[in-house]
Amino acid sequence: LIGDPVERSLSPVMHNAAFEALGLDYAYLALRVPQASLEGAIASACVINMAGMNVTHPHKIDILSLLDDLDESAELVGAVNTVKNDRGRLIGYNTDGAGAVRALESEVGKLAGRKVLLLGAGGAARAIAFSLAEKGAELTIANRTASRAKELATAIKRNSGVDVGRTGIGRGELARAMERTDILINATTVGMYPDVNRALVTADMMHRGLIVNDIVYEPLQTRLLREAKKAGARTVTGLGMLIHQGALSFEIWTGRRAPIKVMAAAAKRELRRWERA
Ligand code: NAP
Repeated sequence: LIGDPVERSLSPVMHNAAFEALGLDYAYLALRVPQASLEGAIASACVINMAGMNVTHPHKIDILSLLDDLDESAELVGAVNTVKNDRGRLIGYNTDGAGAVRALESEVGKLAGRKVLLLGAGGAARAIAFSLAEKGAELTIANRTASRAKELATAIKRNSGVDVGRTGIGRGELARAMERTDILINATTVGMYPDVNRALVTADMMHRGLIVNDIVYEPLQTRLLREAKKAGARTVTGLGMLIHQGALSFEIWTGRRAPIKVMAAAAKRELRRWERA
């Protein structure tokens, strides 16, 4: 994993547990690579014949121009979270969107025709939005910076031919949008450690039967999910997305089916360790 910072990542324990479970001779390391050192880091990875990488903030977009090829998943989203070293050729993928959708579908069933309100238009939100559109969800995007939501909606229309609604994140606007929402997904950083008492949507804006998915996983029970429970809504934590995006990366690198249960158990163990620390 290359990024800055990388200290608070669950990926090393999750992948190393999976390699061990399948008896694969790989090791997963989290390496802090400052923004200015990306090019050197990629060159070094090639020299030492690294099998692949995960890529996180701030490199997900900058890395595009340093790779030999892009999978459709990365090309569509315009960001890379996974790189495979294919005999010296570096190929970029994005498993965030497919991982998020897999995780959600495994909890709540098919997404086609469901009305989804997606909070955010940043890197993760972009990936999720394309995957939701592909699955036939009826999508509305709410973002603090309206121009980013507009740009994302336009890109989805251009690539997938799907119309996407847009709204602001004022409480009144969100309350109105919530009335016609089946599934709310938070893909903003709001509620993430250390700002754990913030949520863009509160219980009074939610209804029974609603599903609320927060992709923030630190903490696992975010303020948004606590509000959802208060309203009698169903909650889905960010752990599922984390595990499924990781499982898809694992399969890209190793060609083996990811041991999802092993990965989930390792990630949960590490999260509990963080919570106790
Ligand atoms: P990002 O690219 O920096 O995007 C941040 C998003 O949050 C933008 O839409 C931004 O709006 C919005 N935002 C930030 N501060 C806000 C505020 N005070 N009020 C309203 N909106 C605000 O970040 P990212 O990489 O997409 O990550 C977003 C979150 O998802 C992080 O918490 C990350 O840990 C989590 N994540 C989880 C997984 C998983 O596997 N579960 C995977 C990836 C990411 P503007 O456009 O207006 O700035």
